Amino acid sequence: MIDLRSDTVTRPSKEMLEAMFSAKVGDDVFHDDPTVIMLEEKAAALLGKEAALFCPSGTMTNQIAVNIHTRPGDEVICHKHSHVYYYEGGSMMRNSGVSVCLLEGERGQISAADVAAHINPDTDVHRPVTTLVEVENTMNKGGGSVYRYETLEEIAKVCKENNLKYHLDGARLFNALAETGESPGKYAALFDSVSICLSKGLGAPIGSLIIGDKAFIKRARRVRKAFGGAMRQVGYLAAAGIYALDHNIIRLKEDHKRARYLGKLLETLPYIDNVMPVETNILIFTLNKNYSEKDFISKLRENDIHAISMGPGLVRFVTHLDFTDSMLMKVEEALKTL
Ligand SMILES: *Cc1c(COP(=O)(O)O)cnc(C)c1O
Repeated sequence: MIDLRSDTVTRPSKEMLEAMFSAKVGDDVFHDDPTVIMLEEKAAALLGKEAALFCPSGTMTNQIAVNIHTRPGDEVICHKHSHVYYYEGGSMMRNSGVSVCLLEGERGQISAADVAAHINPDTDVHRPVTTLVEVENTMNKGGGSVYRYETLEEIAKVCKENNLKYHLDGARLFNALAETGESPGKYAALFDSVSICLSKGLGAPIGSLIIGDKAFIKRARRVRKAFGGAMRQVGYLAAAGIYALDHNIIRLKEDHKRARYLGKLLETLPYIDNVMPVETNILIFTLNKNYSEKDFISKLRENDIHAISMGPGLVRFVTHLDFTDSMLMKVEEALKTL
């Protein structure tokens, strides 16, 4: 089976499993698990921040950040297609009681000017008070698009001037950095908190980290407990995360190369109407009007190739570390005969 549904479908490699088997563990709720502590210190150092907290999912790390940066009744500014709003089951409203201000923007990206134009100050009692701005890099529904550093910096300036917190959903931050060549610390310095996922392109079976200053992470530990995400001998999973950070960041460019190859191929096919620019490991494309994405996806499935729909006429492929060159050739053959 060739699985292009997501970069979450990867299985731990033999070496990663060995790292997991040999992990030293303790009870992480007592803060006793040396491997978890090692992972958290490693992630914090990598991003040039003071501290980090290991959590079961990227939804939880994003939602912990929202919970800490806001109070019930506040408003969060984010793109209308952002994961934190669109794909997290209404959790911002459900768990933190916040309102959202949803911005538009090309390929899932927001701008400083648009953020500035949508801030509700606390002097107006009619409006929910804006306290948090969230951005996603790379942007999933934007086709894995990469923000320009300058854009993120301009938004950071607006946040500072208006006393707003600034959160980065960096589920695929390392995919973005693989393309721009910039350092994680330079990016992280713009934000009050950063979430990164180990279970996407980095190939770990489970896990995300929320990263920030010490005071923030202390509060995050309490919120994680309240959200049911404090785990016990979780060093076995943290070991996979350490392995992922050590070995799998460096190879992300291979996934991007295969995605670009597929993007170029798709552009030549008569039944494809449009391919979003391919910047990282996500490919989103539009089929011709008379071709439903359900039919296309089921035809692919007959060839043992799996993909998902991103809405009417839209299909997504995601490349990852279990998608090899020989699979790429098989996909090419199949796409040419569909
Ligand atoms: C996957 C993902 C998350 C977190 O998802 P979980 O499945 O909860 O780990 C957050 N943001 C983005 C952009 C993602 O792609």
